[in-house]
Amino acid sequence: MACGKNLEELTLSGKPDENAVSCPNANRGDAMKFFHAWRLDSAPFSRKFQSSVDHAGEAPRNHNPIWLVTGGSLWLATAANFPLWRELSHLALTSDPAGLAFSLAMMLIIAATLMAMLSLFAWRWTLKPVLTLMLFASAFGAYFMWSYRVVIDATMMINVLQTDVREAADLFSPRLVVTVLVLAVLPSWTIWRLPIGYGPWSRRLLQNFLMAIAAVILLAVSVVLSYQPLASTMRNHKQVRYLMNPLNSMYALGYLAAGPLQRDRSVLEPIGLDARSPEVASNDLPPLIILVVGETARSGNFSINGYPRPTTPKLGHEEVASFRNVSACGTSTAAALPCMFSNLGRTQFDARSKNFEGLLDVIQRAGMAVLWLDNQSGCKAACDRVGYANTSKLRNPQLCPEGACYDAIMLEDLDARIAALPAKARARGVVLVLHAMGSHGPAYYLRSPQAFKQFGPECSSNDLQNCSQAELLNAYDNSIIYTDHFLDSTIHWLRTQQATYAPAMVYVGDHGESLGENNLYLHGLPYAIAPDVQTRVPWITWLSPRFASQKTLTPQCLHKKQEEKITHDNYFHSVLGLLSIKTVVYQPQLDVYASCTGTR
Ligand SMILES: [Zn+2]
Repeated sequence: MACGKNLEELTLSGKPDENAVSCPNANRGDAMKFFHAWRLDSAPFSRKFQSSVDHAGEAPRNHNPIWLVTGGSLWLATAANFPLWRELSHLALTSDPAGLAFSLAMMLIIAATLMAMLSLFAWRWTLKPVLTLMLFASAFGAYFMWSYRVVIDATMMINVLQTDVREAADLFSPRLVVTVLVLAVLPSWTIWRLPIGYGPWSRRLLQNFLMAIAAVILLAVSVVLSYQPLASTMRNHKQVRYLMNPLNSMYALGYLAAGPLQRDRSVLEPIGLDARSPEVASNDLPPLIILVVGETARSGNFSINGYPRPTTPKLGHEEVASFRNVSACGTSTAAALPCMFSNLGRTQFDARSKNFEGLLDVIQRAGMAVLWLDNQSGCKAACDRVGYANTSKLRNPQLCPEGACYDAIMLEDLDARIAALPAKARARGVVLVLHAMGSHGPAYYLRSPQAFKQFGPECSSNDLQNCSQAELLNAYDNSIIYTDHFLDSTIHWLRTQQATYAPAMVYVGDHGESLGENNLYLHGLPYAIAPDVQTRVPWITWLSPRFASQKTLTPQCLHKKQEEKITHDNYFHSVLGLLSIKTVVYQPQLDVYASCTGTR
């Protein structure tokens, strides 16, 4: 073993005592003294250790970092990309020699890109940490892409970064542990034990530069040779680009990191500065609207929308209007929720150059009282400047049995919560947002209490691939039965307020869910390639007779619009319309209720 090795390598190579005596070095005197002392203190162990070293023969050789870069890149490009290989084989791209050659080119493209990147980090203090980080990112990415058929893009990365402990715990499974162990822990352990000789910095710089050049040449050659199938695959099967592990995670993180550069986050542009609510006429009562939002509700699984299973028996007996043809603004909470509450609409919201206020700011500015109750992981900035309370960690033995609360918890003490809002604002009107836990997966079975489990057997695992599709659907549909109960309870509570207010409820889902159709699970696919089940959401309206008469809005008129094509872009304007709030940002042509509202 050479005398020039530093302390880290001595420790990592596992043979400290040999060098401790044979390498006196003025700069490392203290460390050497420590090792010397340690050697004396642990003499019996040390003798044993020494003998095993002697038996092993030669001291280990320092490897050039190029081997670590190459080996790491190849491991990531092959083993950590099994979801990509599965997808290519499903697309029948690996069935003939040409397909296999294309797959090989894909593997080389990924490996060469990783090599080019890693050669920038092939320095003593960066190579092993960066490679370890990549190994762990790829292992988690590979597990979720394999198990839930999700792909990793910027939106998915926002979901990951915004997740909370409970959501993460819902995703935990033994299979995840095994995947991370095999793909990340074992290879990391191996690389940290490997003695690497970095040499003087000038030689390192030259070698890293040459390594990067070689990788770029390999990348270019692979792209050129496979250009035709590569271009058509990327065009026809966009999901493939989001499966290239760990480049997908790195790209998404880079995209998000660059976000603040594109968007000026220091400004929050106010909207609806002219917003005002009408004076409540002497014979009228102020409106009380509950906006129920979320979660993971598939429009098609509601029997009031034509689903053959009786999942919404209670709503079926209420005078509600259900729009069946509603598209979400995004395929995840993080994407859809802020967009729903914005006046910009999906296209403009994605392309916004700065942040704007949203629906609740306008309602509050118009003089009404606003409160957001959250039984989930937060409002994703949609409620930043209004009253807020989280109910998901309340202690209630009936409604919060296992660390999470059923949505009916939000109806507890609601009278007191409203009474605490400013009286002057309440006299103009009250808007309560209930952000529901709904059918949040993958542990759907946790979303319904025993009494609501009408379909069985239920999938009672979060490892969805261990369940049959029928069991999965049973667990999901039971969560819709509970949502039906929760919405009906909300209507019942609103009826108790009729002496003081004119109540109404609008329930809109944030996004849908895949339940194993085409082997897809969960949600969050990029909008352009997401299946309908991830983007179709329910939109259900209940109006108390007083609200309907004050607004001259009839449920019968709304029923006629049930097949009309509407989107989350309509939400902002429809809520303002229901509240009769006047402002320049209100666009009546986007208000789904406007055409059913008579003149007063
Ligand atoms: Zn959601």
